[in-house]
Amino acid sequence: MRVLVIGGGAAGMMAAAMAAREGAEVTLLEKNEKLGKKIFITGKGRCNLTNAADPETCLMNIVSNRKFMYSSLYGFTSADTVEYFNALGLKTKVERGNRVFPISDKAYDVTDALKREMRRLSVRIHLNTEVKELLTEEGEEGAVCRGAATASGQKFTADRVIVATGGLSYPSTGSTGDGCRFARSAGHKTVEPVPSLVPLEVREPWVRDLMGLSLKNTAIRVTVGKKELCRDFGEMLFTHFGVSGPIILSASAVIPAKYLKKDAEPRPVLHLDLKPALSKEQLTSRLIREFEENRGKQFKNGLDRLFPSRLIPVMVSLSGIDPLKKCGEITREEREGFLNLIRDLPLTLTSTRGFEEAVITKGGVSVREINPATMESKLVKGLYFAGEVLDVDALTGGFNLQIAWSTGAAAGRSAAETG
Ligand code: FAD
Repeated sequence: MRVLVIGGGAAGMMAAAMAAREGAEVTLLEKNEKLGKKIFITGKGRCNLTNAADPETCLMNIVSNRKFMYSSLYGFTSADTVEYFNALGLKTKVERGNRVFPISDKAYDVTDALKREMRRLSVRIHLNTEVKELLTEEGEEGAVCRGAATASGQKFTADRVIVATGGLSYPSTGSTGDGCRFARSAGHKTVEPVPSLVPLEVREPWVRDLMGLSLKNTAIRVTVGKKELCRDFGEMLFTHFGVSGPIILSASAVIPAKYLKKDAEPRPVLHLDLKPALSKEQLTSRLIREFEENRGKQFKNGLDRLFPSRLIPVMVSLSGIDPLKKCGEITREEREGFLNLIRDLPLTLTSTRGFEEAVITKGGVSVREINPATMESKLVKGLYFAGEVLDVDALTGGFNLQIAWSTGAAAGRSAAETG
């Protein structure tokens, strides 16, 4: 069986290595000058290659089209990923949250392991080779994919073609959405790609004053109208345009894209709880104590123990309390209003940042037209899709690369099958 793989990222390399292991004659085309450019920057250069959770938990961390992933994820689990890489000589370790990393803390060791495996299995690798279009023809039983043509006019023919060109995020790594174009030209539907696991922009200009400030133990809720879209707890960061950090990125993955479109109304609201560890009663007594102990100080100078210093002027201004008022003169009503502000500091979300800052792409080739066990197109025989090009995405923690490994393994194995 001659298998052609388009894209030398995580999914493409896994697909190529798997197909070759099953005995196929494999050719891999990559438009960059090297393989795995995106892997290189994953996990801040350390590559969180999977998550050591059981398959059910992995599935729960998949945000879009979880059901579609069932078959391939059970066919190649995160335990299989660890075993596979360990067998290739890549030692791994498990960190907080079951995140798996190479023991070396070097993302390129993951790519190196796959490169060694592909070399061992004689996969032919063509770098600097950009595919421009798929070669399809009408066979007796409908459309069949026969290969691909490159930007320079070269044709590669094959019995099976696996498209593993990634999404649109961090386009400098080579992921520029070509796979969706190929899919559409082959008659496939695609779901509009949007940036995900991405910082969010807000309307309130005061966030700029807090640029660079990170809040460790913050609880967030996102609502639109009366509807709650998500809630989380952890670390976030203010930026010149809005908010970022782990819990914000996770929120961006679960807020439906329609609410973050530029012209969407009503706008979703991010509610920050700055003191989530304290009950209402505890926070009330804390405020009473602070104001009592600082009774002779002006309000603006009496909040040092409550917030990081940069947050104080913002809280003072949003509270509506006269900054020069003595803490001892703050009324019960003012204190209660201030408590509500601490509990629910609202920010209006206006949009996501762009693909350049998005860890992943939500959307892509519609999974309705893909066989979930084999990754083969239901419309075009011999055409397969794997990885982020598909309309599947997950939360952070190694789950997105696991999607690439599982779908890549499924596509590679089935594309290598004869008959
Ligand atoms: P890609 O890795 O995007 O690979 C696609 C490849 O196809 C590219 O090499 C591209 O050059 C090539 N290509 C595209 N078009 C063509 C064409 N026309 N012809 C030939 N070649 C083409 N996930 C995790 O699980 N853990 C992490 O720690 C993690 N960290 C991340 C950090 C950052 C900054 C980013 C941006 C992402 C991170 N991710 C992480 C997500 C993860 O990297 C991706 O989900 C995963 O790499 C997708 O793999 P892929 O093979 O589908 O696509």
